Amino acid sequence: MKSYAQMSREELSNELEALQKDYQSYVDMHLSLNMARGKPSSEQLDLSRPMLDVINSGSDLIASDGTDARNYGCLDGLPEAKKLMADMMDSKPDDMIIYGNSSLNIMFDQISRSYSFGVMGETPWCKLDQKVKWLCPVPGYDRHFGITEFFGFEMIPVEMSEEGPDMDKVEELVKDPMVKGIWCVPKYSNPGGVVYSDEVVKRLAALNPAAKDFRIYWDNAYCVHHLYDEEVEVLDILKACEAASHPDMVYKFGSTSKISFPGAGIAAMATSQANKEDILSKMTHQTIGHDKINQLRHVRFFKDIDGIKEHMKKHADIIRPKFEAVNAILEEYLGGLEVGEWTHPKGGYFISFTGLDHTAKRIVSLAKEAGVVMTGAGSTYPYKKDPKDSNIRIAPTLPPLEEIQMAAKLFTICVKIASIEVLMK
Ligand code: PMP
Repeated sequence: MKSYAQMSREELSNELEALQKDYQSYVDMHLSLNMARGKPSSEQLDLSRPMLDVINSGSDLIASDGTDARNYGCLDGLPEAKKLMADMMDSKPDDMIIYGNSSLNIMFDQISRSYSFGVMGETPWCKLDQKVKWLCPVPGYDRHFGITEFFGFEMIPVEMSEEGPDMDKVEELVKDPMVKGIWCVPKYSNPGGVVYSDEVVKRLAALNPAAKDFRIYWDNAYCVHHLYDEEVEVLDILKACEAASHPDMVYKFGSTSKISFPGAGIAAMATSQANKEDILSKMTHQTIGHDKINQLRHVRFFKDIDGIKEHMKKHADIIRPKFEAVNAILEEYLGGLEVGEWTHPKGGYFISFTGLDHTAKRIVSLAKEAGVVMTGAGSTYPYKKDPKDSNIRIAPTLPPLEEIQMAAKLFTICVKIASIEVLMK
């Protein structure tokens, strides 16, 4: 088979004509499909339905330490919830703060606290003369970039490799005292599915940032979200930071959003005792305590980390065929054409597609016109500006398998059309 680059203009033009007919046949179907957001399907959500029966009006609502879960108090969470989340996040129960229903909310709050009140006695970022700078591994998670953009920080993209962020660049950039943080999704990253190598974790932990209040925002959103039996592990960054004598340099985040219910799960942070004290001293003005009934509900449903792992296997059985279907269709229709590459993640929620330069916006807009909503082109980059206009995040979990197959086929047609248009320019 010839790649598009090897075809003559006439061959490309004939191919384009045929593709436009195929494309029109999809437009005529008036599809309404969505591959935009990393949401679990309703079949996945059904897995956690029994959790809603675990606590009812007759339940004992006293926690292991005697706390009445119905009442105020317990700012950093119930002991059993700390244990469950610590085991999931590879941390110690003592290092945990259990929050509400969203880890993104914790990250926002943490930046907001640092901005308004400073980190462990350092100048609040709002009082600095210059703009705060933030390292953003790319492609990355749009909502991370959304937070740092909202606070007016200057976001600096750092390329991701298959091992994690480009550490030579990170080591260089943290010499600037205005660089106060880095976004990291260490396991099955959003969107690249990248798993940070031991070397990257160790180099991150060994960083010597000029800013004392520099923090690694370690968002382990997909820590137990394996698609296959192999449970990929990442070195624990907090232990690595301790070993490198930087125990306070990291905040770890996690949640049960894609384990139980997004929006009704529990979220947590793990960090050093000094950071925890600093955070609680401010959080105490924010809330008297989070939803402990939901904490109990989660603990009683999952019981322990093995319960979570069993549950995640059921999720994997539902979503693995969707990932494999997308991969098979991309391979069948795009293989050999040299119009793009895509990731083959072993976990997480996304496939990252990188097409020819200057095609991503066109692909997404063609798909949209034919009724398939994709994540906006550019959104995997700070300020939604993908310098090459080539990366697209594919989220295969939400729609049923047949819809995913339909959407993926249409996607390949859009990729081909956009690629030929660019090649013929
Ligand atoms: N972090 C990452 C990397 C995510 O992909 C997501 C969900 N798409 C979140 C955080 C959101 O987590 P939560 O529901 O706990 O706010």
